[in-house]
Amino acid sequence: MTALLDLLRRRIAVDGPLTVAQYMAEALGHPRHGYYTTRDPLGAAGDFTTAPEISQVFGVLLVELGPGRGTLMQDALRAIGRAAPGFRAALRLHLVETSPTLRAAQAARLAAADPVWLDRLADLAEGPALVVANEFFDALPIRQWQRGAGGWHERLVGWDEAAGTLRWELSARADPGLALIPDAVRGAPEGSFAEACPAGLSHAAMLGRRLAQQGGAALVVDYGPARSSAGDSFQAMRRHAFADPLAAPGEADLTAHVDFQALALAATQAGATAHGPVPQGAFLEALGLRARAAQLKQASPARAAEIDAAIERLAGPDGMGTLFKALALTAPQTGAPAGFP
Ligand code: SAH
Repeated sequence: MTALLDLLRRRIAVDGPLTVAQYMAEALGHPRHGYYTTRDPLGAAGDFTTAPEISQVFGVLLVELGPGRGTLMQDALRAIGRAAPGFRAALRLHLVETSPTLRAAQAARLAAADPVWLDRLADLAEGPALVVANEFFDALPIRQWQRGAGGWHERLVGWDEAAGTLRWELSARADPGLALIPDAVRGAPEGSFAEACPAGLSHAAMLGRRLAQQGGAALVVDYGPARSSAGDSFQAMRRHAFADPLAAPGEADLTAHVDFQALALAATQAGATAHGPVPQGAFLEALGLRARAAQLKQASPARAAEIDAAIERLAGPDGMGTLFKALALTAPQTGAPAGFP
């Protein structure tokens, strides 16, 4: 038994089963044993890959602020330096990141930009901000419910003493009209699952408020449906394959689909304007993905097949082109940013 599993077992014995959000927060973020705390999960040797890790095409097309290994920001800074040296000289880079391991990776790539690290978005200094979040919202803890005859029951993570494993349970008490469940999902038939991401909604509201009051824009790229829908999207990714989310807390990446409709609603209720979401494929095409690929292939003809494969993966329907979406948030007086209708 891993140290984290033992901690979870003892906590469940004392306090009872955990909500999915409590489980996810511990499995990903426990200060000593959490998944992001203890490793760099990205790339071939890790558990999953994200768009900035596939090709610099993704980064060169975007202007943004965001963590991971710092790959996207490294690409973005290079592009900004060429296209807008004045902006490059004036910008102050802030990285919101909780993982010490990934902070070190970011420091290695972005030292030249002298970044400031923050634990929380709420700590960001005042002023207009350009914010980018690629595969950030899917890592924030979700809560889940299942529809029973008398209402929605919260899905909980309990301990199976006989098997010596974590197991799924449902809260005995039904809550007939949970405010967190999206309107479109609340009437779903018995047996359906509902999800909500309280931390995601509060991040969207915080962004919406500050963009409306202080100006700027945010770009959110992640995977999930354009409209709120019922279903269980809680998933674990280990060595680039799907895994059982309860099998190895702290050893696998845990994520859930991002509800873009709910994020946009939280941001607009806080005063911002939402643009999109648009599918990642359409977004990258609109920003000139094909022209950029042609340029790269001309510069290094030997890498043409590799570049084509990366483009297909980023923008194709069988890759990240349709499941992934881009959502922009801006101050109300700002027009639609490039890439958005
Ligand atoms: N944007 C990168 C990394 C995506 S993985 C890319 O696309 O490659 C998710 C990132 O969010 C990791 O850097 C992880 O450490 C960070 N993270 C997860 N939860 C967080 C939280 N609550 N606050 C700040 N950062 C968090």
